[in-house]
Amino acid sequence: MALPRLLARGLAWPGCGRALHRATSASAPAAPDFNSFVTRTNTCGELRSAHVGQEVTLYGWIQYQRQGLFLVLRDFQGLTQIIIPQDEAHSHVKKLLSDAPVESVVRVTGIVSLRPPGQENLKMSTGDIEVKVETAEILNSCKKLPFEIKDFIKKTEALRMRYRYLDLRSFQLQYNLRLRSQIVMRMREYLCNLHACVCSSGFVDVETPTLFKRTPGGAKEFLVPSREAGKFYSLPQSPQQFKQLLMVGGLDRYFQVARCYRDEGSRPDRQPEFTQIDIEMSFVDQAGIQRLIEGLLQYSWPEERGSITTPFPSMTYEEALADYGTDKPDTRFGMKIVDIGDFLRRSDIQFVQNALSYPHGTVKAICIPQGVRYLKNKDLESLKESAKSQFNQEIMEIICRPDGSLKSLLTKFLGEKQQSELIQALNMQVDDLVLLAAGEYKQVCSALGSLRLESADILEAAGLVLRDPTVFHFLWVVDFPLFLPKGENPTELESAHHPFTAPHPSDTSLLYSDPTKVRSQHYDLVLNGNEVGGGSIRIHRAEQQRFVLEKVLKEDSEVLSHLLEALEFGAPPHGGIALGLDRLISLIVDAPSIRDVIAFPKSFKGRDLMGSAPDYVTPEELEPYHIQVSWPLAEKEAKNPLT
Ligand code: ASP
Repeated sequence: MALPRLLARGLAWPGCGRALHRATSASAPAAPDFNSFVTRTNTCGELRSAHVGQEVTLYGWIQYQRQGLFLVLRDFQGLTQIIIPQDEAHSHVKKLLSDAPVESVVRVTGIVSLRPPGQENLKMSTGDIEVKVETAEILNSCKKLPFEIKDFIKKTEALRMRYRYLDLRSFQLQYNLRLRSQIVMRMREYLCNLHACVCSSGFVDVETPTLFKRTPGGAKEFLVPSREAGKFYSLPQSPQQFKQLLMVGGLDRYFQVARCYRDEGSRPDRQPEFTQIDIEMSFVDQAGIQRLIEGLLQYSWPEERGSITTPFPSMTYEEALADYGTDKPDTRFGMKIVDIGDFLRRSDIQFVQNALSYPHGTVKAICIPQGVRYLKNKDLESLKESAKSQFNQEIMEIICRPDGSLKSLLTKFLGEKQQSELIQALNMQVDDLVLLAAGEYKQVCSALGSLRLESADILEAAGLVLRDPTVFHFLWVVDFPLFLPKGENPTELESAHHPFTAPHPSDTSLLYSDPTKVRSQHYDLVLNGNEVGGGSIRIHRAEQQRFVLEKVLKEDSEVLSHLLEALEFGAPPHGGIALGLDRLISLIVDAPSIRDVIAFPKSFKGRDLMGSAPDYVTPEELEPYHIQVSWPLAEKEAKNPLT
């Protein structure tokens, strides 16, 4: 994880830079006073040469202590060097501070002095001064740590999660959480102050229930038992239905920093519980939502991460699939997928002819610049293996030799003209490596899209920079199909987004004749190859919603009767979006996992390793819910922890 610029320079703790910067501009609010309501005079990041001579009281944790001479005190805002008195009159203070273990929390009172010439520390924002202690108090001693805090980031994630409160003391987590809080504050400001007020038609922050009932489609939901036998609540995977109902209720513009739940286990970019910036508006179209989000992100974007330009570029789902093999293209680098079917159509290559003879057959390729130099044989083999195992797709390579000629099993089937056409189409240079795939369109695109990213990993491991983490490429992906074949049963359809998404206005009639061909009014927001948001214009007429649920998706519409009924009572046209806050922040701070921007995240298996949740409950506690545990045999045979 790259250290934030502010910290890497060692100038200040996170958060302060921006607050101070804003405070200097005429319209900005005054810098926050971190010392109101508390008994310290200053924070550990605050003192400068202007404070020399002042008596100050600081509170903080002992970062380190050297030979009874000095220590470094740390709080949320920074570090201050504390000089331990050596004279007899202060011997008790010396003993107290010299004996206190690292990470003990202390109060010190003393006089701010300039450091002796040559001993200034340019890496510390307080590096010009030190505090000569007069009195000190150990407020709480720290027992032997399970690790050294400064090395914490190098420890296993399980250990960090077990002692999350210690991990939270690290610079990096403090930075991430404070930046997250600032961004959310700016988002609220944008939505509430720039676009809303309670008594006019502005955005209204509404909390929606987290105890609801099972809804069709989408991710698996968590069940919560109720005291009514056989009945369960569900934790909503998003406030989707409620925000639509708020539009029916005439709220007009809604937002919520909403907690959502999906019983899917964790992945680096997934958590069973996560947060969305959830938005809905009445009388809006796709462009309206997109402009709103661009404004929101621009307004809340942290200054220290540069600026972002709007409007964001847009690409159709078809283009994204054709050029990048995915619906969330990373547009920070090239290596786009090129269709070479036309160049090879007249060749005698059997597998190419075979692929092109099918209705959805295609031949495509990606060109890896300098691939011959940077990819070893074993890399090439693993790329081929990955295409085979993940996509059942064979890959063939073509190399551009130093003399500009092509080396491949295919070249003997290609005339000189075809070869030079191919070189041109793929813009091949000496030492470039081309990966070619022939077969079914979607499979070929997906396989090459995945190889494009894997090759980028290999090139970057060799030292090239393709995906600069400090560069932010936002992209709208639009015109998704409304329905996709179900993964487990391709003859049935499922919603590409969710069942409430409206068809594209020009495809509405196809909904009733050939739903597979209908494009939707669904848009995704992609950042550097990650989906950071998604939304749609909704179906606002009951009969169309009922048709989609019953006839296309073959769902039981009864579970949604409340929504269908609401749509019959003058529901306005409406649409919205949700931004995945955790993922967005983790990309902004360049964290490897969304867990690095969540104060108390769950493990890969969805467990809280600190408090050991989920936990067993006794049969007595289960009784009111009419539930009995049916223990898996292995656990029954092992000692049942509750008996
Ligand atoms: N509720 C949707 C989701 O969570 C977002 C939306 O359509 O507004 O993906």
